[in-house]
Amino acid sequence: MIRGRYYRFSEYLKNRFNKRVFKISVNAGFGCPNIDGTRGSGGCIYCNNEGFSRNAGKIDKELREQISEGISFARNRFRAEKFILYFQAFTNTYGTPDILKKRYDVIREFDDIVSLSIGTRPDCIDSKKVSLLRDYANDYEVWLEIGLQSANDGTLALINRHHDYGEFLRAYDLTVKAGGIRTCVHVIIGLPGESVKDIMRTAGELGRLRPDAVKIHPLHVIRGTELEKMYMAKQYLPMQLEEYASLAAEFLGHLHPETVIQRMTADCFGGYLIAPDWITDKNLVLRSIEERMVSQGIYQGDLLGKT
Ligand code: SF4
Repeated sequence: MIRGRYYRFSEYLKNRFNKRVFKISVNAGFGCPNIDGTRGSGGCIYCNNEGFSRNAGKIDKELREQISEGISFARNRFRAEKFILYFQAFTNTYGTPDILKKRYDVIREFDDIVSLSIGTRPDCIDSKKVSLLRDYANDYEVWLEIGLQSANDGTLALINRHHDYGEFLRAYDLTVKAGGIRTCVHVIIGLPGESVKDIMRTAGELGRLRPDAVKIHPLHVIRGTELEKMYMAKQYLPMQLEEYASLAAEFLGHLHPETVIQRMTADCFGGYLIAPDWITDKNLVLRSIEERMVSQGIYQGDLLGKT
């Protein structure tokens, strides 16, 4: 249920757990088939996990240690009471079910973790892995965060994803049909070559699919990526904040009102950010989107079915 212009994750968590809940991001040492050559090589053109995730460079640090540190930090800094264990770095269902179970099972050693969240790619989801996640749903709220980025196959090829929209739909349907697993779809606004119509096509597809949550990221250029080369060669121009705010506002209009918006900002750690600068001011980004929604008279769901 939305109280503001869109359905915030903080509002969802408050209603669901009635406690201060904080996400602990970890690197469990998984790889990615789009980097190691199994699917493709070179990875997505914007990918450098060192820049995406606070713990991406910490696989030397044991998983339990990452979790304990994250929990202590969140307790002290944010007075957090309960936690979501977020397997964030790389592709967290890339392995056999036995390997996945061994790594996910660490959750059972921490009493105050209430939710398990797994970030992955569509080609690394199959019925055995979904069934494994379904088992955790007996004790935890389980989220499967599926990277889609765009529903346009031309864009997916251009950004070197090595999966198409059809493959996403297969993974999404498998997850939904298993029941008990909450779906979160990750998309990016500002991908090279995408028109407003392309972006809203993705929004329209998500409005139709009605995932439990969506994460919308503004594309940003990170050091050491193919996108950096495109940016330096002036083949890619990052969005201005006003443009992103306007597109994100319209995007939200196309989503179902019960789809939770888990995020609309981006993180970039360790001095990896090249452009645009404005992504570092999260409050400004969120305020700008909300102002756009107000000035354009948009509420989440207003444009549902209108692409
Ligand atoms: S799927 Fe994720 S980890 Fe793999 S290359 Fe793309 S962004 Fe990087």
